[in-house]
This record gives sequence, structure tokens and C-alpha cells, in this order.
Amino acid sequence: MSPPSDADFIINHNKSSPDLKTASTILHSTSEDDIDSLNNLLSDIRLFTTLRDADIDPISLKWDSKSSDYKSRGPVVCNFYKEGTTQHNAIGAHSGCYSVYHGLAVAAKQLNPNFTPSFENTDPQFEVPYNEKWTDGKSIVSIDPFGHLAIPENYPELAENVDIRPSIAITKAVLQLPDIQALVKEGKIPVDGKIVLNKEGDVAISKIALDSVWYLPGIAKRFGITEDELRLNLFKDTNNMYPELITRPDIKTFLPPIGGSTVYIFGDPSYLSDPTKDLALRVHDSCTGSDVFASNICTCRPYLIFGIQEAILQAQTPNGVGMCVYFQKEGRSLGEITKYLVYNARKKYGDTADKYFLRTECIAGVRDMRFQQLMPDVLQWLGIKRINKMLSMSNMKYDAIIDAGITIDKRIPIPDDMIPGDSNVEIDAKIHSGYFTTGSVKTEIELKQTHGTEWK
Ligand SMILES: [Zn+2]
Repeated sequence: MSPPSDADFIINHNKSSPDLKTASTILHSTSEDDIDSLNNLLSDIRLFTTLRDADIDPISLKWDSKSSDYKSRGPVVCNFYKEGTTQHNAIGAHSGCYSVYHGLAVAAKQLNPNFTPSFENTDPQFEVPYNEKWTDGKSIVSIDPFGHLAIPENYPELAENVDIRPSIAITKAVLQLPDIQALVKEGKIPVDGKIVLNKEGDVAISKIALDSVWYLPGIAKRFGITEDELRLNLFKDTNNMYPELITRPDIKTFLPPIGGSTVYIFGDPSYLSDPTKDLALRVHDSCTGSDVFASNICTCRPYLIFGIQEAILQAQTPNGVGMCVYFQKEGRSLGEITKYLVYNARKKYGDTADKYFLRTECIAGVRDMRFQQLMPDVLQWLGIKRINKMLSMSNMKYDAIIDAGITIDKRIPIPDDMIPGDSNVEIDAKIHSGYFTTGSVKTEIELKQTHGTEWK
């Protein structure tokens, strides 16, 4: 295949200003003579659209359509390609935190921006049945409930004019997790040939990747603020990255540049929406240091493994199903930089449980930015009404799920013998702050005596 020509990389953001290179030259010119051309350029180039633009004609998108008919609700369209500049109905870009790589690939001339994807043979590998929460306008506000159906083939007339892309993908896989394989070999998880496929401990799963798609009025309502407050603060706090948050109040949907989530289902996915079936659920927020590299300073990986183990065992019962949802929310959504700075400060100050949250608050201003209020959306999307076993001690996750109207029969803390050496500071502090436990809650004085190990 021959490389695309330069012409392929000129994006027609606006019929009258097709040449970004010329635009950039004029913007950087210091010549007085160029003032006129600069003014012409700024009135020409479409840096953003406003509600008052005469040619604005967004594709209809009715988040609270109260109907399973996704065609009449309309797809989420954000790309400026084709006629997207005037017809888009969402702010932001696809692929969450990876959206900027797309721009870099185009800039580096490795990706033709006018490339048209083929979604042939990429269909969902199992069905997620519609339920009324998808379109009530309030139960699901942080993912697009029809995101797996947003492909050009489902909207052929619209797709001629705009770029339509999915924000959800549904597939299958086989896991080979060393910890689970060891439990199978020890006989603690039986081989059933359906979920645990063989004595080597291979585990069959169904899985779903979801990007974040925010319905702004619903997000604002969830946090008890006005939509204007939300828009203004998102705009200002991203250093003006998304002007249309301000200039297009008619557009209610925003694709934020943040991590998404992945659902791992053990057993029959159709059991999830059936409240007579028993669901074991772990809702997990990513912690690469522990989850992948087994750092001993927190309980993330052991609790995740325990969650998977319980999910498998539940799925192996006649009426059972198991699930883990993995959210990309590194370091409580504060990021790894903050997290490592906190580790340093903790160790320098002597690392006791009574100061555990303070160390984060000193650096980040808050102890947590995961906003569990949005977490139940994926459970609502899957039609979950009852959780038999909740593999989490977090009061924030528990409260969010209960507030969403989902029942939890019992909460299961991480077993004591799975808590790694240096993570007692974290777990004691969390239990003291309200995390669920079947054991005792330490007093303020006792927290001072829970010490982390010293760094040599
Ligand atoms: Zn962790």
C-alpha cells in the first residue's frame, strides 16, 4: 500500500479554510500586513462552533427518549470530519484518554484523518438486553447505553455525512491468571469445563470495554450542581480545552479525555439482569503498581484476585454468575504522580494509619476523586437489580450502589491472610474512615500504632 499523499492530511474543518498549514503561518506572523489576513482567518477557520452559527444543524440525540429504538434516539457524533463540524451533537473526542494519540498519528502522517473504518465482523459477541434505565435520562449518564450499536451500518443515511463510531465493544476471552491457576491446581477452584476450562486453570469470560460519554444535565444533577456550573468549571479547569462547553449549550453530551472501564463476566451474561440469580461482584479501581506489579503497599491486587476467585466460584453454582468491573482510575483518579509523591511523604513522615489520608490531602487537596456516584451506571446498563455478594469494603461504592436502587445481600471484606505486609496502614485507615469490616474498628490512638515498613 502506498503512503497517503500530503493532500490526504488536509482536514476540511470548514469549507472556506481547508489549509491548516497556511492558517498556522498567518497566526504566527508578526507582520502588520498580515493583520487583515489574520482577521479573515479567524472569521473563517472553525476553531469551535457557536449556537448562533447560521449553518449549525446537529444530528438529533435524545438521551431521555424512553424508547429502545436507538435509531430514533440518534447516535453520539463528535468528530468534525465530513459534515461533522456543523452536525456533531457531542463535545470532545472518541477513545477517552487515547484521543490525543489519534491527533498525533494524523500529525505524524501515520494515519489518514479521512480514513473510513470498516466494522465488518466486529459485532457484539453476546447481547446486552435493553432496559428502561437506558433512556430515562437519569439512571445512566456517564456511558452511552447504545454505544455498542453506534456503527455506520446502523445509521446508513447519517453515516454518509458524519463519522459514527462505537464507544462500547463486547467480546470474549480466556484468562490465564497465575494466582487463579494456582488455586485450581490446589483444588480450591474446581474444573467444570465451562468456566474453568481445564486443570491448567484457563478461565472463559465475556468482557465489555466502555468509554466515558457524559450526559451533562444528568452528571450535574448527580452532583447537585447546575449544568452551567459543571460546564464552566470543566472548561476553565482543562485550561479552555473544550470551548463548546460554553458556546454550545444546546449540545448536552461530552466525551471526556479520561479512562474508561472494562466488565469481566464469569458465567452466563444473561443471568446479570435476573434478580433470582446470585451475583458475586467486585468493582475495582485500577492500581497498576499493585494489580500488575504486585507492590506490597496496598490491598488492590489481592482483593482483585479474591474478587475473581469468588466470581468464578459463584458462577459455578447452578444459579450463579460473577463479575468484576475494572475502572481506569489510577491512584483514586489522582494519577500515579500524586500517588508516588504521597508514598514519599508517607515514608518520610513515619507512615502511620492516623495520617494516611492527610498525606494525600496535603498534596492533592482531596483524598479521592473517583466519584463513585457515576460507577453504578454500568450496573444499571447491564440491568443488575440485586447483588448477592459484594466483594468490596468501600462505603463510597456501597452507598452509590444502594442509592442507585440496587440491593446488596452481603459484603465480603478481603481475608486477613491476603493483606500484604505494608498495607495495614491503608486498610486500618480506610476501616476507621467508614470502610466495611467484620472485625474491629481501630481508635484514633490505635491508628497511630499502625506503622508501615521503613524504606531502607
Ligand atoms: Zn493499590
